[in-house]
Amino acid sequence: DAGGNVRVVVRVRAFLPREIERGAECLISMDPHTQMTTLHVPNDNDPANARAKSRKVIEEKSFIFDNSFWSHNKRDRHYAHQEDVYNCLGEEFLDHNFEGYHTCIFAYGQTGSGKSYTMMGTPDQPGLIPRTCEDLFQRIEAAQEETPNISYHVRASYFEVYNEHVRDLLVPVIPNQPPYYLKIRESPTEGPYVKDLTEVPVRSLNEILRYMKAGDASRTTASTKMNDTSSRSHAVFTIMLKQIHHDMETDETTERSSRIRLVDLAGSERAKSTEATGARLREGSNINKSLTTLGRVIAALADPKAQRPGKRHRDIVPYRDSILTWLLKDSLGGNSKTAMIACIAPSDYEETLSTLRYADQAKRIRTRAVVNQDHIS
Ligand code: ADP
Ligand code: MG
Repeated sequence: DAGGNVRVVVRVRAFLPREIERGAECLISMDPHTQMTTLHVPNDNDPANARAKSRKVIEEKSFIFDNSFWSHNKRDRHYAHQEDVYNCLGEEFLDHNFEGYHTCIFAYGQTGSGKSYTMMGTPDQPGLIPRTCEDLFQRIEAAQEETPNISYHVRASYFEVYNEHVRDLLVPVIPNQPPYYLKIRESPTEGPYVKDLTEVPVRSLNEILRYMKAGDASRTTASTKMNDTSSRSHAVFTIMLKQIHHDMETDETTERSSRIRLVDLAGSERAKSTEATGARLREGSNINKSLTTLGRVIAALADPKAQRPGKRHRDIVPYRDSILTWLLKDSLGGNSKTAMIACIAPSDYEETLSTLRYADQAKRIRTRAVVNQDHIS
């Protein structure tokens, strides 16, 4: 059975130096046995949460997710390293890709909560994307020896959605040239896609890592000009895996294609409109349309009415109201096995509660993944 719920995991990061300096307290606890994550009431004298406390009643809240990754204190026995996150989630999703399923893993959370660390990581501590690439090419190399009648073809693309524009991260930014934006098209068979997006064939781990780094650098180059791009942009790294299997006995050829999508979303605080006046809203200074629409899409899909058979309720999911949700339509409510990593900071009551509630809602979404396989001769 390929129908399944969106897998939802949560990860809490360590204190940053600035949090240690202000004497922040950790408001999160996780039970490694029940996977329960609890958000505790902040202490009266933590200035960071004073505003939240003055505005409303704050109480302890608990949630249960498919996995809870405790990455707060390295000395704890249950500390989750980058490797643990990969082993627990990335590896299984790559299994699905080899079986022929599309997958999508996206990281959600406020700016500074650990999304990029989890997805991309650092040179010393690689995250899900480089680990997926490494495992992918290791498996292909092993398979080429064991099953020479299957050939493997890998392609990669990398784009970002910034201010409702799609930018190809594998096309170098030309200095003093206006940025070049791509359009979205929808095909009856493949669904929505980015027209003219660069899709590079890759033959080795080193090659794909080079593209990954170049794309990341392109994101950063732009961000020095338009301040805090990475908190406002959604980065989508995609790997296409094609397996062509030739059956020696029947002389039949079949093709399995799967898509691996790895998404680093804009900071979730960008979804809020509370402090934006009408004028600022029109300028679009703070609100991220793709992110607010993602919230509405998730709410619509999590609605029990959307789960009933029949197309009517699925038709009212507002995918097309933003660029990101339109492009991720399949990953969110269609042919994909999908996971959400809710990243949380240890000492921000309000933002963390909002992220945990969002994640809790995403648990109810069901997708219907199918093996993408065709006879070609
Ligand atoms: P985001 O992408 O959500 O804005 P980052 O991934 O950039 O946040 O993380 C913010 C800071 O916290 C970075 O300096 C990052 O290295 C650090 N960090 C995040 N998660 C972890 C973790 N699990 N362990 C150690 N450092 C982390
Ligand atoms: Mg980031």
